[in-house]
Amino acid sequence: MAGAFWGIVEDDRQGNPKKVMAEVLGEAGRLAAKAGGQAEAVWLTDKATEAGLKQLGEWGAKRVLLLEGAPFAPYRGEVWAAALADLAGKESPKAILAPVSTRLRELMARLAARLGAGLSADSTALTLDGDRMVATRPVYSGKLLAKMTWAKTPWLATLRPNVFRPGDPQPGAAPAVERPSVSAAAAILKFVERREESATGLPELTEAEIVVSGGRGLKGPENFVILESLAKVIGAAVGASRAAVDAGWRPHRFQIGQTGRTISPKLYLGFGISGAIQHLAGMRTSKVICAINKDPEAPIFKIADYGIVADLFEVVPALTEALRKLDVHA
Ligand SMILES: Cc1cc2nc3c(=O)[nH]c(=O)nc-3n(C[C@H](O)[C@H](O)[C@H](O)COP(=O)(O)OP(=O)(O)OC[C@H]3O[C@@H](n4cnc5c(N)ncnc54)[C@H](O)[C@@H]3O)c2cc1C
Repeated sequence: MAGAFWGIVEDDRQGNPKKVMAEVLGEAGRLAAKAGGQAEAVWLTDKATEAGLKQLGEWGAKRVLLLEGAPFAPYRGEVWAAALADLAGKESPKAILAPVSTRLRELMARLAARLGAGLSADSTALTLDGDRMVATRPVYSGKLLAKMTWAKTPWLATLRPNVFRPGDPQPGAAPAVERPSVSAAAAILKFVERREESATGLPELTEAEIVVSGGRGLKGPENFVILESLAKVIGAAVGASRAAVDAGWRPHRFQIGQTGRTISPKLYLGFGISGAIQHLAGMRTSKVICAINKDPEAPIFKIADYGIVADLFEVVPALTEALRKLDVHA
């Protein structure tokens, strides 16, 4: 419906929306309740599932606009942006929200350009001020928070995961599902090959509630095993500093920071990481920060809520054992 607050769906490519959509749809619902619209999900996929559609309803989508078909998989920014721009032209949503993910970050920039609309990237708060929406977003590697608003609708924003509160779950809520036809643009990019990342059995870095992160203090790739053992005990994801990534100890997809991933877990545990500004840019919005470093002057202690000045090779096994006994799996 016109004036709706859309949430663009991020999924696992198997027909299941990712849990970050609970946050996006929760925020869309809260804003829509104030502005007089409704939260709607827009899902581009080649394999929607009944369970996935139901899930979107339970997370707050009153209507799901399903753009389903082979042209939408694999993701190609130019195809998705053209389809969404066409749909937005017909539906006139008030806002288009999406989680920060690798592909939706790109998609939303393309869509904003097509619609001639403003985009607040990596937003950490959205509020309504009269008939305007105001976004808060970190700038200068998180040193400042900027507030911005839009000159016209639709208001486009990407939302940082783990920052926005999911809406109250609505068990059994069934969204209206519609399959609108849109003009499909021809793909410019040719899809060549998809390589699946080997599963780690640990949560995805940007979605995890707890992140255990290792830096140069780990001394070598083989020592990340102790962080993985700790992570398994508490259901955490394992991240790394750029020093560890540049040394080839971890793939780049695990890098946290300005030139890596941005995370906002409930708990961040940093081992052997000094706390360079570029690293802080990717994790300073974590709710609780705990740093373990043998140097009491390490800059990370300035932003840490808890600090342990000690050798990580003593702390990690002791912590793992203690937490195993407590059985605190997230
Ligand atoms: C343009 C640009 C972009 C960048 N982007 C990023 C980014 O995205 N992410 C990022 O992380 N960095 C980034 N960097 C690099 C950043 O400036 C730092 O060099 C990097 O974060 C340092 O990583 P580190 O903390 O692991 O290593 P170091 O700074 O070398 O720190 C290692 C720490 O381990 C401690 N330590 C050593 N042994 C032990 C032990 N046994 N027990 C406990 N503690 C121990 C030391 O006291 C030290 O504090 C960027 C830099 C530039 C210029």
